[in-house]
Amino acid sequence: MKMHNFYAGPAILPKEVIKEAAKGALNFNNSGLSILEISHRSKGFSEVIENAEALIKELLHLPSNYHVLFTTGGASSQFFMVPMNLLNQEETAYYVNTGTWSTKAIAEAQHFGHLVELASSKDKGFNYIPKYKMPKKGKYLHLTSNNTIFGTQIHHFPKGDLPIVCDMSSDFLSRPIDIEKFGLIYAGAQKNLGPAGVTVVIVREDMLGTVQRQIPTLLNYETFVKKNSMFNTPPVFPIYVSMLTLNWLKAKGGVEKIERLNKSKAKLLYTELDNNPLFTPNIPNKRDRSLMNVTFQITNPDLESDFLAEAEANGIVGIKGHRSVGGFRASIYNAMPRSSVKVLTDLMADFANRKG
Ligand SMILES: *Cc1c(COP(=O)(O)O)cnc(C)c1O
Repeated sequence: MKMHNFYAGPAILPKEVIKEAAKGALNFNNSGLSILEISHRSKGFSEVIENAEALIKELLHLPSNYHVLFTTGGASSQFFMVPMNLLNQEETAYYVNTGTWSTKAIAEAQHFGHLVELASSKDKGFNYIPKYKMPKKGKYLHLTSNNTIFGTQIHHFPKGDLPIVCDMSSDFLSRPIDIEKFGLIYAGAQKNLGPAGVTVVIVREDMLGTVQRQIPTLLNYETFVKKNSMFNTPPVFPIYVSMLTLNWLKAKGGVEKIERLNKSKAKLLYTELDNNPLFTPNIPNKRDRSLMNVTFQITNPDLESDFLAEAEANGIVGIKGHRSVGGFRASIYNAMPRSSVKVLTDLMADFANRKG
């Protein structure tokens, strides 16, 4: 049966990438060795990591004063690495709280400096992107570009005096970005780039070297810059597969092209949700809806398990909502074909006709 993978993360990767990765696991570049058993200092892997870095720079049009780093510990480790590296104890950082991940980022950052929660959408169960004014003074403004669990997304980033630090874990490389606004971007690979195990950090040169505290070597961004992310053994296989996905994305026409496809997929699904009498989208304001994680409910909760069972029978997996929200969530990252989204919307329409 053809499977349609709507998991939120780890998540769908392009079929071509999985095939190529499987080949590399058996016989990497016709070397007679597996990518899993070669030195991270070998020529073969050096090319992989250099390629991955170059592709990220190319796809996002990064100016030369931005570094691309490959770290471990997930996006969650960036919740503390960011303030540890960027914020002095007496300095102020502003955070916008748009969900579970922002809340966790705020909790961690509090240990490293003065924190101000600039705005929050907690009052309405994080179902919108709150309004705020960019502060005039402060070290940075932290945003979560896409709220994987609740299904909201920032579609316009503010321009102003503070550099934006952004958790882009679940919409990294899904659209072009205005890089000038950002001082630092981080993203765990397992949503839109590769397997779990590597986290990409993009940091502007002038953000570094401004804090007084002692930072452990492997938690210091400057170590990653100086050693090209190879102070210690990097996660070789996740970086390899991420490189394959980056190549795939480039061949597809880059972030500009994939954004169009992402918009078309999201439109298909939200249009069904807005018109189907049996389903409702969680995010009322169209301008705040995520193009990556589409959250919705069934109006008659008695039918929820029926719909899940029918979905499964049709090869649709991973649409159960996050345990803290309930209902459904369809994650439609870069690698999700439009035809799979159509299978889901067709089933929703058919289900409503029969049971509505
Ligand atoms: C998944 C996710 C995280 C956590 O990522 P880990 O790599 O598991 O630490 C953080 N932020 C966002 C926006 C996410 O989607």
